[in-house]
Amino acid sequence: MSAFQSRVLIVEDEPTIAEILAAYLREAGFSPRHVGDGTHALALIRAAPPDLVILDLMLPGMDGVELCRAVRSFSAVPIIMATARVDEVDRLLGLEIGADDYICKPFSPREVVARVGAVLRRAGGGGAGMAPPSRIEIDEDCQRIAIGGQRLDLTPTEYRLLKLLASHPGRIYSRGQILDLAYNQDLDVSDRIIDSHVKNIRRKIAAIWPGGNLIHAVYGVGYRFEMTDL
Ligand code: CA
Repeated sequence: MSAFQSRVLIVEDEPTIAEILAAYLREAGFSPRHVGDGTHALALIRAAPPDLVILDLMLPGMDGVELCRAVRSFSAVPIIMATARVDEVDRLLGLEIGADDYICKPFSPREVVARVGAVLRRAGGGGAGMAPPSRIEIDEDCQRIAIGGQRLDLTPTEYRLLKLLASHPGRIYSRGQILDLAYNQDLDVSDRIIDSHVKNIRRKIAAIWPGGNLIHAVYGVGYRFEMTDL
């Protein structure tokens, strides 16, 4: 696995929302953990400080505002508040409460993942791996690919797939084309295998660049590579 995975603590009393969020975050290369109440969350943040907290405002017991204030008394960990009320946002982000960002409920999990990545990069606390990659290097002799100077640990198939896409940024490849161009012709494989390889490559990229995505799905067509952020 990766050398660096940002730990994201989800404080949310609705298990379904927390599960969906956790699944998306895991998919994007983060290491999520979930707690359902503020008191437990506070203890956990003290005992095992996460890299970022997603904090639901309305919680049983200690609510999000109280918890955020309490955390701020001993920690500068980035906090993203989840609230259904846009009119509260100024107060949440103000000095008195001290959240770093907010998301409005109902939210899209994809948007939350993008926000988490952006807040972590802004906080810059995670070391060199946090910067958005500015370049991709393909070393054909050694069959290696590095992003922003950090080498990806790819299998040979993943290497060929990423090399194909990255060699022509912006160009859309169908699954059939990817199979023809990046796979061993003798293998009789379903084009669904491509989706699982893409998933693995994304996870490896996200380990270097949390929340970042370079391989974009083009609905009904295939995939394209793009170096742009969000
Ligand atoms: Ca709630």
